[in-house]
Amino acid sequence: MLRAQMLRAQMFRAQMFRALLLQVTPQAALRLLSAALLAMAVLACATAPETGRQQFMMIDPAQEARMGLQAFDQLKQNKPYVTSGKDAELVRRVGRRIARVAPVEHAKWEFVLFKDDSPNAFALPGGKVGVNTGILEITQDEAGLATVIGHEVAHVVARHGAERASQTMGLQILGALADVALAQNAPGARQGVMQAYGLGAQVGVLLPYSRVHELEADELGMLYMARAGYDPKAAIAFWQRFQAYNRKQGGGKPPEFLSTHPLDDRRIAQLRALLPRAAAEYARAARG
Ligand SMILES: [Zn+2]
Repeated sequence: MLRAQMLRAQMFRAQMFRALLLQVTPQAALRLLSAALLAMAVLACATAPETGRQQFMMIDPAQEARMGLQAFDQLKQNKPYVTSGKDAELVRRVGRRIARVAPVEHAKWEFVLFKDDSPNAFALPGGKVGVNTGILEITQDEAGLATVIGHEVAHVVARHGAERASQTMGLQILGALADVALAQNAPGARQGVMQAYGLGAQVGVLLPYSRVHELEADELGMLYMARAGYDPKAAIAFWQRFQAYNRKQGGGKPPEFLSTHPLDDRRIAQLRALLPRAAAEYARAARG
């Protein structure tokens, strides 16, 4: 399945670049635009795990992992993090347990506790997960932390970063091709497409996730924590504590975690609906 997706993505890229090597006339660009639209709709697609949602995907897993690794390395150079002590060890231990039940091709899992008071966590492609010290007072215990890490690992498994980058790239490439078709500016557009391919991948991977991605990560995350042996009921309790924390903050600036992780009753309602299935998986994991 994955191999087929990669082959399709490679074929698609090969077609794109072969076309770019030719002299692009407006007519050719129009044909290319139609072909690209068709290829994007038909070929560049993947399926999210568990939910079965169709995804638009122009990046293969190895490339995706490289981009995530690069971005995470840069982050670690600019942001202080905790290397030892019980909190950093807890983050690593929970991370290892969740990662064991979340197979990701080309993942080099790493779970880092960043010294940052804002209650936040994030994930980058390739298995790079960051947890801020500020969220630990809300996670409170190991199962609470498993909720946050399960959610972040789910973003990685479902390839949300690559999907975001693919959407950005796709739009930019279509934009560049449309430019050619309309403005007869072939060399500029060729360059534009090349730039779009690189820039979209770089920028898209760092963009905040959409609401669809957040709800999907909640759903997958709850299943992963259950499979890793953490009581999924803790997920609902965590989000309730987070909601209470947010309300206590009053009308001030919303915490960073909130701006990228929309919090509402819908998210808790969805988790409640999923709880019976997750509880069954938890019971199975407990039986070994
Ligand atoms: Zn998220």
